[in-house]
Amino acid sequence: MKLFINAARFAAVRHRDQKRKGVYGAPYINHLLEVAQLLTLEGIDDEEILAAAVLHDSVEDVGVTFLELEERFGKRVASLVRELTDDMRLNSRERKQLEVAHAPTLSEAAQAIKVADKLSNVRAIYSSPPEGWGQERKQDYCDFARVLVHSCTHAPKGLVERFEQTYQETMRRIEKDANYTFTSKSSG
Ligand code: ZN
Repeated sequence: MKLFINAARFAAVRHRDQKRKGVYGAPYINHLLEVAQLLTLEGIDDEEILAAAVLHDSVEDVGVTFLELEERFGKRVASLVRELTDDMRLNSRERKQLEVAHAPTLSEAAQAIKVADKLSNVRAIYSSPPEGWGQERKQDYCDFARVLVHSCTHAPKGLVERFEQTYQETMRRIEKDANYTFTSKSSG
């Protein structure tokens, strides 16, 4: 328990100035805790995996180093975060391609965190859509996330199913909203 609480507190402090992209601008820690919670719902109670879940964006987004993670939380947590960190020198398209290509080679634990991460992101696309994202961009993101999730061939089945349900639901809602906008525009 100690390790996880320390990691959650560390993540809260380091991500304190970061908000989620969505229009409601939720504090970033909400996303990190959601990812950890999704794993616990699958029965994952390995503290190092849960710690890596709340730290998974810390190198990419707020400049934490792998060395610092290793010193504070140990080798395994640092190496899980390393597996989940994209090369930010690449552009977003290249990063996405690489993410899909690398997914099947990730460890089981890293795949579980990745699927939970994408599930949280797809949920947010509907519940707090990123500002300025139209229907197509939202659908493109959800489709990318789905390809990625299905490339995580060793991820827990229940989590993948949960993702799939959320994906279907989100796509239906995006379409419904688009139809509504279209109808109300064309009728008025
Ligand atoms: Zn994330």
